[in-house]
Amino acid sequence: MISGSVEQAAERLRKAVPIMVKHSIPVTPLNYALWYTYVSHEDPTLNQRIDEVVSAYGMIPVTTAEDLFREHVSPSGNYETALLRAKDNLQQMVQGIDRDLHATIADTQSFSTLLDECNRDLRNSGHDKASVDDIFGTLDKLLQGSTAMQQNTSRFEQRLSAANAEIRRLRSELETLRQDAMNDELTGVFNRRAFDLELGQFIGQGERGPAIHLALLDIDHFKQFNDRFGHQVGDRVLSLVGRQLAAATRVGVSVYRYGGEEFALIFCGGTAQQAGQFAESLRLSIERLVLKDSRNGERLTNITASIGVASRLAGESADALVERADQALYRAKDAGRNRVCQA
Ligand code: GH3
Ligand code: MG
Ligand code: MG
Repeated sequence: MISGSVEQAAERLRKAVPIMVKHSIPVTPLNYALWYTYVSHEDPTLNQRIDEVVSAYGMIPVTTAEDLFREHVSPSGNYETALLRAKDNLQQMVQGIDRDLHATIADTQSFSTLLDECNRDLRNSGHDKASVDDIFGTLDKLLQGSTAMQQNTSRFEQRLSAANAEIRRLRSELETLRQDAMNDELTGVFNRRAFDLELGQFIGQGERGPAIHLALLDIDHFKQFNDRFGHQVGDRVLSLVGRQLAAATRVGVSVYRYGGEEFALIFCGGTAQQAGQFAESLRLSIERLVLKDSRNGERLTNITASIGVASRLAGESADALVERADQALYRAKDAGRNRVCQA
């Protein structure tokens, strides 16, 4: 947690910002909170992990920053905090509308009673001059009652239209939050957005950064899992493979769901040969997976995947690197699947 006196805070700010600039870290609230905690030395484990990550990558990848933030700075995370705030707003608003609605109903009831009274007065009034005064009195009562009612109703309408605008605002805020999230819900690994962001970050370092190797992994004959056992079993295969790949995550290795039944892995540092060996170990670990029937535990079938690996050439763009890894993946498929091909 961020804590300490104002002077201490200013001192930390003076220290944190130059480090962020040096490592080309965007000054977002999340990054700022992370580096602020770093310079405070309040959490030695966090500092150790940051040092480790910076020495491997020369910077902090966005997904790592988010993980570190969640684990060390704010265990409840920024999305969760925003979500709680949104829920709070919504609840307050619903309660407000509910109160107004009840007040309006009460007003409507008393107005209806007033109408009954006036009706009765009019029916009972005579035809003499004195009765005219009574009728004036009744009309005044009616006028007052209907004006008050109109005011209440228009207040309620205003409240409803404000609530409507607020609901729309909250909806779009939550939509942004959902899009901002970098995890793939089904498999638990990072999603395509995180992949695009991070590959861009790695490549943006140019020749200052470590060597970058990209593996694209595609599950073999995945459509058959859906066709033979149903879409839910297909989903289970995806989550099994995701979990298996996630187990290989460490500093220098990140795993993403690239889309559908394709995953991407980025390796930083090491040689192309080491990247190829690593991809081969992943292929083997997937080949060993067994898909079981969730009802009786019986073996249904095994799972295999094909992998294309490409190592970034000097000056190569993210798109060109992805394209070469994709071509290598196609060669692996063409050559009979369940294999690794290197560009
Ligand atoms: P190949 O060995 O050539 O890769 O064949 P394949 O069957 O794996 O490839 P294909 O591209 O023909 O089929 C992929 C299928 O994956 C099609 C699509 O319906 C399915 N799929 C994509 N996303 C999901 C998902 O989230 N869940 C499930 N259950 N199926 C998905
Ligand atoms: Mg595919
Ligand atoms: Mg496939």
